[in-house]
Amino acid sequence: MAVSDVPGPALTGPCDALVRVTLSAVCGSDLHIYHGHSPVDEGATLGHEFVGVVEQAGAGVRAVKPGDRVVAAFFTACGGCRLCRRGWWSQCESRAIFGHGRYFGGLGGGQAERCVVPNADLNLVPIPAGVGDEQAVFVGDILATGMFAAERGMICPGDTVAVVGAGPVGLMALMCAQLYGPSRVFAIDTIGGRLELARELGAVPLDPAEAHPQVEIQRHTGGAGADAVLECVGQIRAIETAINVCRGGGTVSSVGVPSEVNADFPYFDVWNRDLTFRSGLANVHAYMRPLLDMIEAGRLHPERVISHRLSLDQAEEAYRLFDSREATKVVLTP
Ligand code: NAD
Ligand code: ZN
Ligand code: ZN
Repeated sequence: MAVSDVPGPALTGPCDALVRVTLSAVCGSDLHIYHGHSPVDEGATLGHEFVGVVEQAGAGVRAVKPGDRVVAAFFTACGGCRLCRRGWWSQCESRAIFGHGRYFGGLGGGQAERCVVPNADLNLVPIPAGVGDEQAVFVGDILATGMFAAERGMICPGDTVAVVGAGPVGLMALMCAQLYGPSRVFAIDTIGGRLELARELGAVPLDPAEAHPQVEIQRHTGGAGADAVLECVGQIRAIETAINVCRGGGTVSSVGVPSEVNADFPYFDVWNRDLTFRSGLANVHAYMRPLLDMIEAGRLHPERVISHRLSLDQAEEAYRLFDSREATKVVLTP
């Protein structure tokens, strides 16, 4: 993986838009590519979290025009297939993910100066004037994923919530969980800086190296456990923790991308304790507009997770910093 000069992308159809990228970010999902678990072709551009300005729009594009500031969803949907029409854009039969290689649709990435966005009317959302790039850049991916996790956690006012993993996604899930009025939110991770940020965002930090999360959460809930648990890691150990800290009859909402395909899922525990287990790739198109509205209204501050601001030329260093967990979240300016 290296920074290199490649030919600029061009529109391929009347519904495409060409976006001049003004800010992009490195995501936990990019690390799967970084570690070679998800192959991409030599010379392909990476990145699926980005904002920019529309530079060119095909004749069929109606919702955005050249000069508009926009944020892209991290994957594209067609808008017309059976599940798109039911509002399940994440289950689109022709779903493709930006900067994720041929297997995921072969789209170019946003960690670049320019990116082509197919079906721009659906896959780009205009950014309100009062919302800055750093506030908008996560709306099409990790913030929407946090919202998806929280919504599917079925949190009620007064509930106890536990977030497993305080990486960027977990921190977003934490902020979104708070919109539902829980009495407290626990954040479980082992990285001091991330737990400290979780605390600043209103959570009770729990480091498994210092205190047993299940014992600690049960101690605060009369022995019951958390009503809703949001899993934001993607490893079977984290799934086990999520199930263990959840109360009987509670809900585990999982968004971490599974790192193992055939891990032993503890389904006896899920059955025996009447848990609801929900998981998935976030249906981000459903949340982008309302999230921008909440940011504009000052109710969400996703930019709080940014720890490093680098130039696109420093992308290799950005990946190193994020992979080593020295950075909580890195944004890149072309
Ligand atoms: P990250 O790797 O930066 O963060 C993961 C965090 O989990 C780290 O802070 C790590 O210390 C912590 N952790 C690891 N094992 C743990 C355990 N057993 N218990 C508690 N904490 C543990 O990644 P991220 O950017 O925050 O993304 C998290 C996951 O979400 C990744 O798998 C990513 O691919 C996925 N993701 C999913 C979607 C979706 O649509 N479902 C979208 C974006 C990202
Ligand atoms: Zn991502
Ligand atoms: Zn579709």
